[in-house]
Amino acid sequence: MPELPEVETVKRVLKEDLIGKKINNVEVRYKNIIEDDLDYFKSNVEGKSVIDIKRYAKFLIFCLSDDSYILSHLRMEGKYFYLPTNTLDNKHVHVIYHLDNGYDLIYQDVRKFGRMEYKTKDELYSTKPLSDIGYDLVLTDFNKDIKEELLRKINNRRIPIKTILLDQSIMAGLGNIYVDEVLFASAINPHRAGNLIKKAELDKIIEASILILNKAIELKGTTIRSYTSSLGVEGGFQNFLKVHTKNTCPNCKKGLCCDKIGGRSTYYCERCQK
Ligand SMILES: [Zn+2]
Repeated sequence: MPELPEVETVKRVLKEDLIGKKINNVEVRYKNIIEDDLDYFKSNVEGKSVIDIKRYAKFLIFCLSDDSYILSHLRMEGKYFYLPTNTLDNKHVHVIYHLDNGYDLIYQDVRKFGRMEYKTKDELYSTKPLSDIGYDLVLTDFNKDIKEELLRKINNRRIPIKTILLDQSIMAGLGNIYVDEVLFASAINPHRAGNLIKKAELDKIIEASILILNKAIELKGTTIRSYTSSLGVEGGFQNFLKVHTKNTCPNCKKGLCCDKIGGRSTYYCERCQK
């Protein structure tokens, strides 16, 4: 599954190609990808130009010429391709945006879990799904008030800190790979309950998250298992992983633990992480 750095990479690549291009029409082959009524979606999107592409958490936000948006989530396997018309077609192509320059923006999704939705300016952040998403770890300026609010929310819960950090309604941006790396960098055991996290430790978590996510963005994400970003961009962060999928702690050189927490494989060092 693409995580925040991979989605940011997709955003940056698409931005180079799409800005200023007009969507002549949209061909939808698998209706469930579109959350809206199909006619509503098409009539609101067709004829408009893409003026910017943004990201919030793992959502791509295509900004249209009249200040409205297409919100897109790639889920497990969604990929975009920008190619001349009629150069890519297969049974996994579900949505094609035909552009005014002879190119298409093609959405391919082997698992069909990805979703797209039209949003007006007023709806974008005030309605689901973005209204349920917490502070984006890369985009937010974490001032004292926000940190206090986050500490209260984390301290209210007795479940493992790893599970809390994966819950995107508090802080958004850490998936299974990066949360292991962040907790290792913060010297916090992933099993530790949220109510036992101290202020200085939350500061460390935020600081490590910003560093690690930005480093991963710089390296175009992590290419691991089946995931590669759209347009064939291969990430390089897998070479910088310290604990996730590893056997030996880079600090103390002892063996790492691998447990399931909330059903997710979790790598950590029980000596270095308390
Ligand atoms: Zn260690």
